[in-house]
Amino acid sequence: MLKPGDTVGILGGGQLARMMALAAAPLGLKCHIFAPEGDNPAFDVSAAHTIAGYEDKAALTAFAASVAVVTYEFENVPASTADVLSALVPVLPAPRALAITQDRLTEKSFIRDLGLAVPDFIAVSSLDELEAALQRIGRPSVLKTRRLGYDGKGQAMIRQDMSAQSAWEAIGQAPAILEAFVPFEREVSVVAARSSSGEVTAYDICENRHAHHILAQTTLPAAVTSTTEAAAKDAARQIAEALGYIGVFAVEFFVASSGANEVLLVNEIAPRVHNSGHWTLGGAETSQFEQHIRAVAGWPLGRPKRLGRIEMENLIGDEVNRWPDLLAEPGVLLELYGKREARPGRKMGHFTRVYR
Ligand code: AMP
Repeated sequence: MLKPGDTVGILGGGQLARMMALAAAPLGLKCHIFAPEGDNPAFDVSAAHTIAGYEDKAALTAFAASVAVVTYEFENVPASTADVLSALVPVLPAPRALAITQDRLTEKSFIRDLGLAVPDFIAVSSLDELEAALQRIGRPSVLKTRRLGYDGKGQAMIRQDMSAQSAWEAIGQAPAILEAFVPFEREVSVVAARSSSGEVTAYDICENRHAHHILAQTTLPAAVTSTTEAAAKDAARQIAEALGYIGVFAVEFFVASSGANEVLLVNEIAPRVHNSGHWTLGGAETSQFEQHIRAVAGWPLGRPKRLGRIEMENLIGDEVNRWPDLLAEPGVLLELYGKREARPGRKMGHFTRVYR
């Protein structure tokens, strides 16, 4: 268990690490950020930082010696990095969560083995296998690389008029899964946390709207039945318990309809704080960032109680130029990430409206 004054090490220096470091400060904890060269907005708000590659053993060893626990802001932490660190210091959430969620095939298999519903999927590692999988799953379907896909990257939607070959080339002929297209009504997520004593708390289910595969807006309450809400929270609890997970995570779902009923399908797990939980900063009694810090510190979790109806919007690229108007609007909670350059598609900030 950490004590106030201890240091939390964070792999990655982006906005998620920045908001974790900002949440650690009022709890009396310091943060040390480890990230490669680049625009690292978390450095601005942290006690210490190391600029080095994730394969740099000497730098990782020195980093481990300076912190009481290591956590991370992204799921693609190389396995070798997690191995080097976890021999020296606790790494939380435990690296097994990384190994499972870094690969869509192991992730989907893990979720299905828990008895939770996922879209139908088949592993494919060649054009022949893709042709065969298309026979079984049909069109439209979605071809996704097993590794390193996010925000729609490494994905091809195979409609009636697309050949297997062009889809296979579009994803770079990498090992993949072919997944049935889900004609969903909405996309929702549950952000939850599990503590070192095994306590699990979940925030209310949120409804997410994407634009160009990037999260644009999160609203609560989600327009789903209380049965769906309870099922989503229960799925999150099952996943956390099966992983022996410690920290905050998100589970993304598709909600489809089947007659009068809602059907909940798990899309993916993010083993970290998540964009669809940004509303908790000001919109819940405990933010997801504080919750994550509490969990990895070995401390009790805070209450996830939602404080009102919520609208959270991301500021992507040039949208960040709205900041003067947003600042002038009473009650808007604006969070800017301090990134140097507003490139298209880049998450520059977000804002939340809480209607109490
Ligand atoms: P992912 O990277 O798997 O989260 O996919 C990014 C987005 O693509 C999702 O948020 C959906 O909007 C869409 N998508 C992914 N998989 C499917 C699917 N099987 N059926 C329909 N839409 C999908």
